Amino acid sequence: MRFDVVSIFPEYLAPLELSLIGKARQDGILELNVHDLRDFATDRHRTVDDTPYGGGAGMVMKPEPWALALEPLAQASAADVPDPVNRTEAAALLDPEVRAEAGDRSGSDGQGSQAALVKPTLIVPSPAGDVFTQQLAQELSTEDRLVFACGRYEGIDERVLEWAADYFTVRPISLGDYVLNGGEVAVLAMVEAIGRLLPGVVGNPASLIEESHSDGLLEYPVYTKPSTWRERSIPDVLLSGNHAKIAQFRRDEQLRRTVARRPDLIAALDPALLTKTERATLAELGYAVVGGRLQRH
Ligand code: SAM
Repeated sequence: MRFDVVSIFPEYLAPLELSLIGKARQDGILELNVHDLRDFATDRHRTVDDTPYGGGAGMVMKPEPWALALEPLAQASAADVPDPVNRTEAAALLDPEVRAEAGDRSGSDGQGSQAALVKPTLIVPSPAGDVFTQQLAQELSTEDRLVFACGRYEGIDERVLEWAADYFTVRPISLGDYVLNGGEVAVLAMVEAIGRLLPGVVGNPASLIEESHSDGLLEYPVYTKPSTWRERSIPDVLLSGNHAKIAQFRRDEQLRRTVARRPDLIAALDPALLTKTERATLAELGYAVVGGRLQRH
């Protein structure tokens, strides 16, 4: 899988050389290229921002450096189109002059020849985007390429997102309901969450299955040696060697913890997918199925 990140602070992405993601890059499981937006500025001061139209605080990222930075990343995807006829069409569609000459035959609605194009996904980190979740990480991990556009200041001129939609599937994505100074921290989080789902990145794939959010619940509590530490012992069942009982204990703990910490996740569960035992545990915890959903009674 290939990731391209455009930022005015390329050094911010240096942690992605470390740990499992760094190793995955060395092993060729994932490729990550970081591009400095200022290399695409059009003046000698390498300016990438300007004052906002309509007034107000802060600065806005200028559109042209973004177009120049993103264009080559969109064009790289034309070569990925396997069929030679479509590849020619794709290359042509990515050339603004050919597009103009042909009267933009793909149509602004993205129909026609452009449908043959495999558009890479352009992720635009934004507090105004869809919230990043494990489910979204899983969905994005199936793609061949992801391009990230890290905003700074008050964000990127809105027209860049409209323009980019001709070449990319544009997805504004938020890390959560708070405001960061720039998109780089969001990209660090997203690349790590997506990258660790790629086969071969995490040593034991089983650990991906049992994790928090993999099936809508939080993970059970975990313990290691010594079995008694500062007068606190681990639950006896974990020393029993009875795998069925341990699995049952862990599932109950998952349900208890999720009820206590994230009742919104319980409300989102499909009761039809729960076992009889799970429903019984939830009943003990005060939940009943009402109108096809779990509700506290
Ligand atoms: N004025 C913008 C607003 O109110 O929506 C916030 C701009 S913020 C200071 C600068 C950049 O940080 C954004 O363009 C975005 O790239 C990034 N950013 C801030 N909060 C984020 C979040 N919760 N998730 C993802 N990216 C975020």
